[in-house]
This record gives sequence, C-alpha cells and structure tokens, in this order.
Amino acid sequence: AKAAARSDEPVPASAALFARASAVTPGGVNSPVRAFRSVGGTPRFMRSGRGPHITDADGNTYVDLVGSWGPMILGHANPAVLEAVSAAAARGLSFGTPGEGEVALAEAIVDRVPGVDRVRLVSSGTEATMSAIRLARGFTGRPKIVKFAGCYHGHVDALLASAGSGVATFALPDSAGVTASTTAEVIVLPYNDLDAVRAAFAEHPGQIAAIITESAAANMGVVPPRPGFNAGLARIAHDDGALFIMDEVMTGFRVSRAGWYGHERSVETSVSAVGTADQPWVPDLFTFGKVIGGGLPVGAFGGRADVMAMLAPNGPVYQAGTLSGNPIATAAGLANLTGCTADVYAHLDRTAGTVGDLVDRALDEAGVPHRLQRAGNLFSVFFTDAEVPDYDAARTQSTAAFAAFFHGMLEAGVYLPPSAFEAWFVSAAHDDAALQTIADALPGAARKAA
Ligand code: PLP
Repeated sequence: AKAAARSDEPVPASAALFARASAVTPGGVNSPVRAFRSVGGTPRFMRSGRGPHITDADGNTYVDLVGSWGPMILGHANPAVLEAVSAAAARGLSFGTPGEGEVALAEAIVDRVPGVDRVRLVSSGTEATMSAIRLARGFTGRPKIVKFAGCYHGHVDALLASAGSGVATFALPDSAGVTASTTAEVIVLPYNDLDAVRAAFAEHPGQIAAIITESAAANMGVVPPRPGFNAGLARIAHDDGALFIMDEVMTGFRVSRAGWYGHERSVETSVSAVGTADQPWVPDLFTFGKVIGGGLPVGAFGGRADVMAMLAPNGPVYQAGTLSGNPIATAAGLANLTGCTADVYAHLDRTAGTVGDLVDRALDEAGVPHRLQRAGNLFSVFFTDAEVPDYDAARTQSTAAFAAFFHGMLEAGVYLPPSAFEAWFVSAAHDDAALQTIADALPGAARKAA
C-alpha cells in the first residue's frame, strides 16, 4: 500500500497489485526471488508475453532475459506450443490415468539423452531431485548424499544446505525449518574441488548413496565445471559403488539437444580432454524440468534401467503424483522440445555469445570490475575482479553494483534476473531488434554500476 501511495511510483499498476498480493501472500510473491528484495523497488507484475518480450500491468514492455527461469526457450506465446496446449485442453484437462502424451514426452527425453533408459515424469524440478535422491538411497541402501555449496536442487529439505539461487540472494546458509537430522546425512563440499570429494569418500567409505551436482552450476551465478570435474565425480562415485546424479533441470535441452551432458561429451570427444573413448562416463541418474514443460509444470528423473526398476510399482521405492504426466503439461513440453531444432541451438549459442560480449564491453568501458562467466548458452556477470570457481568466490561480488545495473537495464526496457546470483536466459525469439534494445540499454546501466 505504501508503494502505491507514492506519487513518483513509476509503475502504479504493479505497485497496486503488489500491495494486494502482500496482503494475502507472504512477501507478495509465490517464489522469493520475484520480490526484488536484493535489487529493491517494485516487482513488475507481468500481464502478457510474446516472442522475446514481456509486458507488465502498466503497459511497459521489456526484452526478457529470464524466460520464466528457463522454460521459454522458444520465446513467449510460441504458436506451436500454444496450439498443442489448446488441442490437448479441448480433449479434457486431467484423467489420473496413463495417456499417450506422457508416453511421447518420455520417448522424446529417452531419445535425446544418452544414459536415460527410463524416465518418470513429475511436476517440478524439486520433485525430480527429491525423488532421485530417495531412489539413490533405496538402490544403494546407503544414507549419505554429497552436494556442492552453491548448487541449488529445488527446495528439497535435505538439499537446502548451502544452496544457491534465492537462498544465496537472501544470504541464508540454510532454511529455518530444515532439521539438523535431515541435513546430517548430507555432505556439502566446495564446487570444482575433486580433492574434497575424494576426502569425503575416504572418510565415509560405503556410506555415500550418491553425488548430486548441477551439471554446470548456474544457481550461484554461472560457474562452469572445470574440465574433468564431472568425469571425476562419476569416477569417484562409481569406484565406491555410489551413484552419480546430474541435475539438468536448468541445462537440460537448453545448452544442447542432450543437455549439458551431451554438450560436455561432445567437447570432450573433440579435444579428448578427459575420460576415454572406450570407457565413457555416464551419470546413473538425471533430473530435468523447465524446458520439458514448455512453461507448464513438468519435471522428470531418469537414468539406468536397473536403478529405475527400483521404483514402485516394480520396486520398493515409492513415488507418485496426482498430476504427474498431465496431458496439457506434457503436450506443451513435447511441442517445446520438438521446436528445439539444431537451428534453434545455433541461434541460442550465437545470441548468448553476442549478449555476453555486449555486457562485457559496456562494463569494461564504464570501468566496472566484473567477470562474465558462461556455461554453453547460459551466462551471468559477477561484479568482482576475481575468478569465480565456487560459491565462496561468488559471494564476494558487489550486489549493490548489480542492483544499480539491474535498475538501469529495467528502466531502459530490459528485464534481467532480479538477483546477482542467477543465470541469464536467451530464447529462439531474441532477434536483432531485441539485441539492439539490449545494446542501447547497456552503456547507461553500466555507468550506474560504476
Ligand atoms: N535444480 C536446478 C538445477 C534448478 O535450477 C532448479 C530451479 O531453478 C530446480 C532444481 C528446482 O526446480 P523447480 O523450481 O521446478 O522445483
């Protein structure tokens, strides 16, 4: 209400909605980072989106570099996705029985990702990682999980130990309400540090069910795995009889048709950096979300057939969902995946390259200490001079400089993730005009961050 009363409020309609929302929803939002806490100001309430643009309740249109945090890889209101959703909706919304749409989406996932023999659909990335660690524990009969500081795997209790994303934004090492006994079986290690992983396995032989990692960390800002890091994790886990879980909720079907795994394996093969051709490393389980829902709630976990065979109804590991495999959501996801052609991936790579270069140059010219980091077509900028290989380094950046930069971009019509610890997302719909809007916005925003 306070914001709505200000006469200089630049977005009165969003401010009024935020006041209404705050009266009925904690913080006025249904996911914390949306509240603009770390950048300040009034969150923009969006009304519509088309292609690379989103339009708020005050009628302001922005070039969107969030893309609903990943799903909108083809841009907003993609005609083929909308058509698939309408056609599915016309047949009924949910049956709670198996249906053809979920079979087709599962086939599309298995077809794209080597190492995924079987897949089960859920309704969020959180459910996917929660189920994957339960399955890993059920399969191995072991209690402990290794995760990395700054890697976010959704708001699963056990994995909310040193998570990134919104948790990093709020500088909470953990969440209240997560008990010590819940995280007691979770070992949190620094990202990109194989020695720490070896030491943990030496200390707890035969006790660790799985290592879970973001295939490329992108929830503490973008921190790519060092060459050989993921392969090393797979090897260390397998040598001890543990499973290796790659969380591809963000990277899956975005950085390549086969996600980060496909991307990294193709880079490895071309430079023969790590692993050997006759003994390739393969994650035992993968988790997915975002792109496979096309903007509707879908997640998935999958991998080795013998591990997945442990799931109910075949095996003793229970997992279920009223809306799992929902026909509308799976239709949207399949249309989204189908739209991700080789041309789309080439466009995403090119566009991410261009935007990253533009940001780098503008901040250089304004004399702002920064470091642009990329993982395939995901990227983000850290407002620091230092290299950022892990969460400790990520947290040394200037969030104040980011906030100034963010608002400079917002005023000039570019919607960035409202936190310094998030990846930026481009889409197939980001065209030359959208790039020009970004290029025009950058010099002023960079000066504000100086
Ligand atoms: N894992 C990763 C790597 C993510 O980036 C996210 C969400 O950002 C999740 C899991 C959780 O997914 P959801 O928000 O759909 O629960």
